[in-house]
Amino acid sequence: MQYSERILKTPSSFIRNILKVTDAVDVISFAGGLPNPISFPVDALQASVDHAIRENGSKLFQYSSTQGYALLREYIAAKYKRLHGLDINADDVFITTGSQQALELIGKVLINKGDGIVIEEPGYLGAIQAFTLSEPTFYGVTLENDGLNLEELENALQQPNVKFIYTVPNFQNPTGLTYSKEKRQQIYDIVSKYDVALIEDDPYGELRFQGEPLPYIGAGKLENSILLGSFSKTVTPGMRLGFIITKNKQLMRHIETAKQATDLHTNIFSQYVIYDYLANNDYTEHVKKIIALYKNQSDAMLDAIQEFFPAHVEYTRPDGGMFIWATMNNGASSLDVFHKAMEQKVAFVPGDPFYTSKTDVNTMRLNYTNATPEVIREGIKRLGSIL
Ligand code: PMP
Repeated sequence: MQYSERILKTPSSFIRNILKVTDAVDVISFAGGLPNPISFPVDALQASVDHAIRENGSKLFQYSSTQGYALLREYIAAKYKRLHGLDINADDVFITTGSQQALELIGKVLINKGDGIVIEEPGYLGAIQAFTLSEPTFYGVTLENDGLNLEELENALQQPNVKFIYTVPNFQNPTGLTYSKEKRQQIYDIVSKYDVALIEDDPYGELRFQGEPLPYIGAGKLENSILLGSFSKTVTPGMRLGFIITKNKQLMRHIETAKQATDLHTNIFSQYVIYDYLANNDYTEHVKKIIALYKNQSDAMLDAIQEFFPAHVEYTRPDGGMFIWATMNNGASSLDVFHKAMEQKVAFVPGDPFYTSKTDVNTMRLNYTNATPEVIREGIKRLGSIL
């Protein structure tokens, strides 16, 4: 069989592949990016399944609209209006099969082969994978402690046929970094001079355990703003519910066409159930519990790193989200360290798959949401001895 160039160029998910080895029961794994399952509101969702079926009957089992369940879209619009001052209504919200699907649809709608995508370096590998299917040219822009490097951003935007910039402004995957308020404004000032879209992918923004919430870079301000959200990190990833917020009507129509071709509509059963859950439970209280859980785990990992890592290792201190990013300043190869760590039964994700233009890097992603503080300490101690 002859395969398409498109699929031959697309990397299979590095993380899903390594999870096959790192998921063994006796391995301490900082490799996954999974929410802690104890945070899933299982009993409340059980009640919502029963209630939603009782109230709506066969509608949960029928085909439905491509844009998504109207009451869920209204809920999301009202929430973003209230919390972020966005001037939007339900028509500006589009429900997707996880925000991962939003990335793939945006690629399909905006990218011709060779068109430019500006992406954080390091960036979210799932986005690199989703966009690669559209065969773009990636322009990586260094992600600094307070956001994108502005000079590199300006240079990248001057390249031909750049269609959009992809950012994760809060508690970024993989670094855990958050763009500062000043950088957000500076990026807005630069982007508004160009005919490009700005994607702000924000699945972690609600999981802030310290510092003040910050305004979005372009959402609510830039004409070509695309804001992505997800219920994966705050309710459950298995229901596969994400959303696109944009006021650009033409973009919305094209996304609708692309989604019709992909899967007709997002699972309507999930949409009814989550709407029922959101309408009948104290979501804010629920998210507060996740924040307390992750803060405790993040603190445990930072304390252990401080105690066990050698001085040449630099690391980020996240204000929220799920990840710490470490850089080995002695130039060690992260892949080498990964293999040695697996012998000691501790795992992380080597930095390589998060770059579009570098290999054999000296960085690593550490996830802290899936182990107890005691296990985190033991895993970091083992890793420290290897480093
Ligand atoms: N964007 C980012 C930055 C992510 O970290 C993830 C999940 N790892 C996603 C999108 C995809 O999330 P989902 O499809 O579950 O909404």
